[in-house]
This record gives sequence, structure tokens and C-alpha cells, in this order.
Amino acid sequence: MKDEIKLIIPSRSNNESFARVAVGAFVARFDPTLEELNDIKTAVSEAVTNCIVHAYRDTLGMIYITVSADGGKIKIRIRDRGCGIPDIEKAKEPLFTTGGEERAGLGFAVMESFTDKMTVRSTVGKGTTVTLQKRLK
Ligand code: ATP
Ligand code: MG
Repeated sequence: MKDEIKLIIPSRSNNESFARVAVGAFVARFDPTLEELNDIKTAVSEAVTNCIVHAYRDTLGMIYITVSADGGKIKIRIRDRGCGIPDIEKAKEPLFTTGGEERAGLGFAVMESFTDKMTVRSTVGKGTTVTLQKRLK
């Protein structure tokens, strides 16, 4: 049977660790290896950080997180109603950043390599949805 949780959190920087821990606690129930659990938590951190620093840059907004587990298949959706991404393919390129000196431009690359599948949908002025999937071995 499919199991699912939803979290709605404000885009304050200290909520990045809350999201990481909360998603990790849910996923831990489905018997992941330590490596799988850490990969998922790291990918979630990157996606939530992007909502905080890019989507809602200089403002505050809500971040909508859904996590489901279906026979060991974990699916995580992280959605914001922020500024959106004009060119998704470009944004996904390693080292591309609009964040200046403090950012490495590696968040999407990390999400992609630490999960089985990442999809990004975005509309400028409306927001972005990142979906991450990982099957637990
Ligand atoms: P790093 O993650 O290494 O700190 P970064 O955040 O710039 O740097 P990515 O996470 O790969 O790198 O994101 C690449 C770019 O995509 C960002 O610089 C930003 O322009 C855009 N972006 C990513 N997520 C969002 C989002 N949720 N809303 C708006 N823009 C985003
Ligand atoms: Mg990032």
C-alpha cells in the first residue's frame, strides 16, 4: 500500500535542516541503507535550499513537500511558488548559477546523481516543482 506525507514549511533558512530530518525520518521506516538515506536527505537539502535562496530570494514563501513510498519506491516532490526558472536545461548544467560567488551551481547535479530520476518543471513568475525518485534496494 502506498504511504504518503505532506509538509508545508516557510522558506526560512533554518527550515532546510527541518525538511532534511523530517523527510529522512519518514524514509527511514522503509528500511533504506545508510547510504540511500543520506543520498535522499542530501538531494532534499539541495532542492529546499534552492527554494529558499533562489525561488523566494529576498522574500518569504511556502515550500510544499510530498513524500510517498510505494513498495520501496520513494518519490519526493518539492514545489515552490517563487520566481521560476527561465531555462531549465541551462539551470541543470553543472556550475551554472545565478547565485554569484557563494553558490557552486552544483545543486541539480547532486540531486541527479544521488537519485534514480530527477524532473524539473517550472513557469517563470509561478514557481518550480522538482520531483526526485529513488528505489530502495
Ligand atoms: P549550489 O546549489 O551549488 O549552491 P546553485 O543553487 O546556483 O548552487 P543549482 O542548485 O544547480 O545551483 O541551481 C542552478 C540554478 O537554477 C540556480 O542558480 C538558479 O538560477 C536556478 N534555480 C534552481 N532552483 C530554483 C528554484 N526553485 N527557483 C528558481 N530558480 C531556481
Ligand atoms: Mg542549489
